[in-house]
Amino acid sequence: MGIEPQFQKVEEKLFQNRYLVDSGQPHIKVMPHDKPSKNLLAMTHLCPAGCYSQAENGQVELTADGCLECGTCRILCEPAGEITWEYPRGGYGILFKFG
Ligand code: SF4
Repeated sequence: MGIEPQFQKVEEKLFQNRYLVDSGQPHIKVMPHDKPSKNLLAMTHLCPAGCYSQAENGQVELTADGCLECGTCRILCEPAGEITWEYPRGGYGILFKFG
């Protein structure tokens, strides 16, 4: 007997997804920067999949593996040219059918 789905933690629900990595071809890229903007820094807290992090040198980095394609970073950062955002190539990316 497991925990009812509505009482699972977010991490447990995310674990039910599957992600097919398109090696060497991330569908989102952070543009080079010296000092991250407020929006880029915000993504280290807002991304539901935890794809954004801040490196020791202060720059914001992205690991697109596990991206849920929610579009939050696209709305916040793409208009200002801070990131490039495309859907993964066909057959790659997130698969939601297991959760
Ligand atoms: Fe994170 Fe959503 Fe952006 Fe993917 S689209 S990196 S899940 S904020």
